[in-house]
Amino acid sequence: MTDIRPADYPPPFSSAEAVGQPTDPVDERIEVGILVVGAGPGGLACAIRLGQLLEEHPDVAERLGDVPVAVVEKGKQPGSHLLSGAVVNPRALRLLFKGRLQMEDIPSYGPVHGEAVYLLTKGAALRIPPPPTMRNHGNWVVSLSQLGRFLGERAEEGGAALLPETSAEKLLVQHGRVVGVRTGDKGRGREGEELGNFEPGSDIVAKVTVLAEGTAGHLTTAAIDHFGLQGQNPQIWALGVKEVWQVPRPLHKVIHTMGWPLRKLSKYREFGGSWIYPMGDDMVSLGFVVGLEYRDIELSAHDLLQEFKTHRLVRKMLAGGERVAWGAKTITEGGFLSLPSRLNAPGLLLVGESAGLVNVPRLKGIHYAIESGRLAAEAAFRALQPGESPGRPGALDSYDESVRASYIWRELKEVRNMRQAFDKGFVGGGVRASMMTASKGNFPPKDYRTEPNTATTLIRTNRAARYPAPDGAYTFDKLSSVFAAGNRTRDDQPSHLRIRRRVPRELAEAWTWMCPAQVYEVGEADGEGTVTVKVTPSNCVQCGAISAKGGRLTPPEGGSGTEYTIT
Ligand SMILES: Cc1cc2nc3c(=O)[nH]c(=O)nc-3n(C[C@H](O)[C@H](O)[C@H](O)COP(=O)(O)OP(=O)(O)OC[C@H]3O[C@@H](n4cnc5c(N)ncnc54)[C@H](O)[C@@H]3O)c2cc1C
Ligand code: SF4
Repeated sequence: MTDIRPADYPPPFSSAEAVGQPTDPVDERIEVGILVVGAGPGGLACAIRLGQLLEEHPDVAERLGDVPVAVVEKGKQPGSHLLSGAVVNPRALRLLFKGRLQMEDIPSYGPVHGEAVYLLTKGAALRIPPPPTMRNHGNWVVSLSQLGRFLGERAEEGGAALLPETSAEKLLVQHGRVVGVRTGDKGRGREGEELGNFEPGSDIVAKVTVLAEGTAGHLTTAAIDHFGLQGQNPQIWALGVKEVWQVPRPLHKVIHTMGWPLRKLSKYREFGGSWIYPMGDDMVSLGFVVGLEYRDIELSAHDLLQEFKTHRLVRKMLAGGERVAWGAKTITEGGFLSLPSRLNAPGLLLVGESAGLVNVPRLKGIHYAIESGRLAAEAAFRALQPGESPGRPGALDSYDESVRASYIWRELKEVRNMRQAFDKGFVGGGVRASMMTASKGNFPPKDYRTEPNTATTLIRTNRAARYPAPDGAYTFDKLSSVFAAGNRTRDDQPSHLRIRRRVPRELAEAWTWMCPAQVYEVGEADGEGTVTVKVTPSNCVQCGAISAKGGRLTPPEGGSGTEYTIT
């Protein structure tokens, strides 16, 4: 037991650094109508719906100039940075493409045919009836990376300009309203010096800026701080690590597990579980998710997944197979009580995970991202009518109203206390969660509190002794996993990770274990109980965990990072 909390070692970074005024001369600014930041399901659904509306109303399109809709994406292409389970509820996709496309036209691995939930111990798997939140009948299995590429093509067909390899680095705010973003420079050396291929970033100015950055968004965090949009509870996250396997035998059902290898006593604060989903006849997606409020210095989501694979339930499914992809990403887990107090500010809309819209008990965020993207497009369109200005305070309030009137709001409200119910341990949490489900969220009548992921004190229990040794065929080390993510980050660019470089040994070790991509190493001790933290930023897969646990991830040079194709 220690009294060390990541919160006591905040990163040398302030949100104010990510907010500024335009600096390019007026005639050099890139002008677009509506700017979407992030080509994930939320941002692309927004761009697609805008394309539909502008096609029906060419007069509005004309007023928006040569580029009515643009989407900036930091990955090499849409999908490069997308990772999910994923079982998707088709409801929002059906509405977005109503009268245009069927689910069968969208890349997927088909509808869910069966499901099973297991409670695991080290040596056994007890099949239990799926709790209502884990029922997936009617949902479809997809690769989000593939879906992202497909949605990107549909957005372009509808007239959106896609700008890949472009990191949005600064939120441009003028006279109290958001007027666009500044993109990051390219071609800087490790110390920030300009290299031969240096290209400065640009101001992209827009009438409406839609932040669809997904988990732990750089500009989203800055916008929430700048406009004071914090929710009732602080935001919290979980880290998910995923592998895709080619397998000789098809899996016919979606599987979720609870319990082992996590420990159920509340003192460990280990909340999470696994999924195993069929991807057609010859592939499966499997992954492990753990809440970042955990306390153990040696807890590693990467190695928990390796440990999980040693269970005989999993071995049976993967036997004779081969790992073909790997990736990691955080999930925004605070739910209803951590939603920003407003989802808009003058000239600004927050959609998908930027708005915190994830149903944690169901492990579902994709359809909320798509639905909120669609609703954001409609609100932006309303605010662009003659006589209205999206920069007027309140002009985009119809977005909040439509989200509040939607199924997203109702469903999130029903499960608002469920994540926190497990803070007091697995068994009691399970009982409380069942009562919340049965009462449709009316029990308990009060709202539970959450504390930030950085607030838990660290403990040490020799946990790492349980992780299996990597054999390079069935179990893997972090560096081979990073390689399997197709990570390509120039290693002489300035570091995009903001952390304290001198911290207590325990915290340095905790970051080392936590990071799934082997970015951190414990460096030299100074004799006063602190050590230096050595950082290899080029390994980073931009999962976001460091932002939850005491540091700050900022976007690296556009085009850096993973090249996900089937995650
Ligand atoms: C391990 C895991 C399993 C999950 N399983 C499921 C599941 O089975 N079903 C389900 O429905 N949901 C699932 N989810 C949740 C779901 O994937 C997300 O809620 C959903 O993808 C959110 O969509 P989004 O568009 O808001 O953000 P994202 O999908 O994260 O997309 C954001 C995009 O913005 C880009 N971006 C971010 N910042 C910038 C910037 N500053 N400049 C330029 N580009 C930027 C990113 O590169 C990315 O492409 C899972 C999530 C994880 C991590
Ligand atoms: S350094 Fe990158 S990969 Fe490692 S935890 Fe932080 S964001 Fe994730």
